[in-house]
Amino acid sequence: MGLSGRRRTKNGVCRPERSITEGHGYYMIVGIDLGTTNSLVAYYTEDGPKIIPNRLGKNLTPSVVSVDGEGNVYIGETAKERMSLYPDSVAHTFKRSMGTEREYVLSGRHFKPEELSSMVLRSLKEDAEIFLGEPVTEAVISVPAYFDDKRRKATKRAGELAGLKVERMISEPTAVAYGLYDKTLDTRFLVFDLGGGTFDVSILELYHNILEVRAVAGDNYLGGEDFTQVMQKLFLQKAKLQISSLSEKEQVRLYRQAEKAKRAVNDADRVTMSFLYKESTIEQQITYREYEEACEELLMKIREPVKKSLADAKLRLSDIDEVLLIGGATRLSVVRDFLIRLFRKFPDTKLNPDETVALGAAVQAAMKERREEVKEVILTDVCSFTLGTEVVVEYEEGRFEDGRFCPIIERNTVIPASHTERLYTVRDNQEKMRVRVLQGESRFARNNLFLGELNIEVPKGPKGQEAIDVTYTYDINSLLEVEVKAVSTGESRKMIIKGEENQMSDEEIKKRMEELAYLKVQPRDYEENKLVLLRAERLYEEALGDRRKKLDYYITAFESALKRGDHDDIMDTRNALNDIMEAEED
Ligand code: ADP
Ligand code: MG
Repeated sequence: MGLSGRRRTKNGVCRPERSITEGHGYYMIVGIDLGTTNSLVAYYTEDGPKIIPNRLGKNLTPSVVSVDGEGNVYIGETAKERMSLYPDSVAHTFKRSMGTEREYVLSGRHFKPEELSSMVLRSLKEDAEIFLGEPVTEAVISVPAYFDDKRRKATKRAGELAGLKVERMISEPTAVAYGLYDKTLDTRFLVFDLGGGTFDVSILELYHNILEVRAVAGDNYLGGEDFTQVMQKLFLQKAKLQISSLSEKEQVRLYRQAEKAKRAVNDADRVTMSFLYKESTIEQQITYREYEEACEELLMKIREPVKKSLADAKLRLSDIDEVLLIGGATRLSVVRDFLIRLFRKFPDTKLNPDETVALGAAVQAAMKERREEVKEVILTDVCSFTLGTEVVVEYEEGRFEDGRFCPIIERNTVIPASHTERLYTVRDNQEKMRVRVLQGESRFARNNLFLGELNIEVPKGPKGQEAIDVTYTYDINSLLEVEVKAVSTGESRKMIIKGEENQMSDEEIKKRMEELAYLKVQPRDYEENKLVLLRAERLYEEALGDRRKKLDYYITAFESALKRGDHDDIMDTRNALNDIMEAEED
């Protein structure tokens, strides 16, 4: 082995070299927020980043996938609409299982979380291509700051399965702070992200043009959906109903009504929630006060991660310059009111809580394209594992133990990072020193992952006289540069290790892509018609008597227009049906 580790480490942030690639034509890289509940795609324009609307004209695409018996895939709103009608064909919140072995079964077919995510990405990619009128083959995708290597790899694979090259992933809070704030002022941010099913707090610091994630905390099981559950529970209590007495369809319907009431109570003292139960409509009034009280327990859960993140960053609330609220659930008045009390100030409300992550990712994408308008800021992230080398340790005078692991860049170090360790010869007249590059957390080299090795010659001499400096430099693109330099001769060797290889090879990805290609994403024109029909089908099931007859009349008119295929006719009957449904939903 011939290396012994003694801690003499130089620390420092290393700025990666940037060079302008020449001869490239102009091409568009999009920014994608692949959310647990909703996903969005954005691009960069002369006026800054903009959201690209989906095929239905909406900015948000629900991260919901449905596959029917024939292999037709439905994504977003359409898939969500199928939830009450065909629950066994729908999957949602699969981002939570990203990077795990969990499989989802849709109409008898098995899918991994990244495969379902790839379908959402494919849909966003198509929407962007149609909107921009050019192929989109590259994307910057955002991931939660706490996502480890495995989850990030799975996300990258999802992109590849969708035909997107994912050169970079950006953590969600970084995207927000980076994309939308003045990059010249040193600022401390607290990014508060309450989404549909997850809660993340991150503390970021922009200092001398370096944006650093200082701490992250959160609750993987707290989000807007819990606040919907509270509304549902309140209703059931008041109506003296048991959830277990409801059919599956009724449960989906009740949840939908609770979601509506939850949003309505934001700007009202009270709301009336109604629900069709066994052929009759039940109505209950719920006041803002009652709802707020019922949410107390959830609100209390918000406190801990905020405290923890501040403690980890060794900061006080008063040190924070900007509190940024993102995630759809921060639109809840009960949450806002609570946060004003918690932070003792009004958070920044300029941001659109649903859209900022995607917009920030688009800014990052523009930086990758080297658009001149975008000022470069060096982004940092944390390394999710330890990088080190194998050493011999002298545990007593003259007694050695080999095969030990010496960490050089430790887990959770902010990257880009560059650390140096000086290692000495352990034998007299040793001529060569070997550096084995390892990744892992074990004290023993053999238990860690071998990444590569470098050898260097040193002048002969008594043991411990000659030394080498081993420098590991790790950047945000997961490139590890290892440099070994003999201290006395100044001679050096260098190598670059490209980390984070996908667990799937290119061929495997290609094969799985082909396998998934049998799944037919609905042609764009059909999407809106399909959604209208699904919604109509649901409302028909819910309605009775004259209302049902009326719906039936308009549905039939629309269906026969579709069969005739006359465009104007289709539009007229669709609009008429939509109007009726809107009235019905109210
Ligand atoms: P994610 O990041 O998990 O994809 P989002 O940021 O899109 O999630 O947030 C989705 C959540 O936001 C849902 O629970 C939804 O009910 C909630 N939400 C969206 N708009 C509102 C609103 N106006 N009032 C209350 N809650 C809302
Ligand atoms: Mg989100």
